[in-house]
Amino acid sequence: MGRRAPSSAATSSPELRRKRTAAAPPGSPPESRRYCSISDVMRRSRPVNAPPPVARPRYEVVLCEACGAGDRDEELLLCDLCDRGRHTYCLRPILAAVPLGPWLCPDCAPPPKPIIHFPLKQRKIVDFFRIQKGADEPQPAKCGLPQDAKRRRRRSIVMMKKKRKMLPFVPTEDRVQRLKQMASAATALTSSKMEFSNELTYVPSMAPKSANQAKLEEGGMQVLTKEDKETIELCRSMQRRGECPPLLVVFDSHEGFTVQADGDIKDMTFLAEYAGDVDFLENRANDDCDSIMTLLSTADPSKKLVICPDKRGNIARFINGINNHTPDGKKKQNVKCVRYNIDGESHVLLVACRDIACGEKLYYDYNGHEYAYPTHHFI
Ligand SMILES: [Zn+2]
Ligand SMILES: [Zn+2]
Repeated sequence: MGRRAPSSAATSSPELRRKRTAAAPPGSPPESRRYCSISDVMRRSRPVNAPPPVARPRYEVVLCEACGAGDRDEELLLCDLCDRGRHTYCLRPILAAVPLGPWLCPDCAPPPKPIIHFPLKQRKIVDFFRIQKGADEPQPAKCGLPQDAKRRRRRSIVMMKKKRKMLPFVPTEDRVQRLKQMASAATALTSSKMEFSNELTYVPSMAPKSANQAKLEEGGMQVLTKEDKETIELCRSMQRRGECPPLLVVFDSHEGFTVQADGDIKDMTFLAEYAGDVDFLENRANDDCDSIMTLLSTADPSKKLVICPDKRGNIARFINGINNHTPDGKKKQNVKCVRYNIDGESHVLLVACRDIACGEKLYYDYNGHEYAYPTHHFI
């Protein structure tokens, strides 16, 4: 079991001994009391001249090997081999929760399995992403009456001051390069034993689609504007045709799979919707998936929803979260993760929050929803 360092209150106790937190497996019978004969006791007893048992070190201060701090002990993991500590958020990739199984620090963990690269074959890629040839061309925006247009323009000038429009991503023109981008995403998805899905999925045993009601969001949820909705629709139809955002998934020994820009990306560019299976948060309380994303935060805890990209998902799950506990981490952020009410349902969109240069790695605020929502916006 992934162990946390003991709380500071407990550490101060001089009597405290290092303790494994592994609990008995559920359903195992309570230990029954057994009686043994005096000959058994004698057989097991230690002669008085035997060396004393080696004193085990007491918990004193457990420090994080990465940041050197011993604070936030509820997020300080202890390696099951070397007993050294590391914060969940100091790990790369960041761990969302204390793991349920045994946890080994990066120094003790066995080297990761070699990655099997997805074949760079057009037909295989077309099949993997279920690309529809000649699929729906985006509809040109309908022209309203001139009067209507004038009114709309006047309003949009006012809006411009408050909020900027989202921009559609610009796919790489070179088809071969685009195939490379898709093959990189397919490599990461297949290595993670995931199927490609570019949208929220509702599985019978999990939360039903009817549970995703944006109006249940505590404090309200911003509604995606008509213009931005058209932008998202345009991007979705481009993706169905195989025109993906200019992103490349690369493998980094420190960060795992991570996403980098494969072309210059302008501020406010829509990059991806966070996709995966929708489930109730309470069903996932003991889940080890490191990429669970908040979808709906309701006053009623039993109605809280999360997106779980453990079986299905898209490139969004490989974008790394920044370490938002340090100013340096904050500086790296170039993508914002924002939740919107789209047709009454909540959706999580990843949008560039500054100009991103080709080759730059993408980072979003891992805990973005806590701060970016709903009052802090793109301005
Ligand atoms: Zn740390
Ligand atoms: Zn270790």
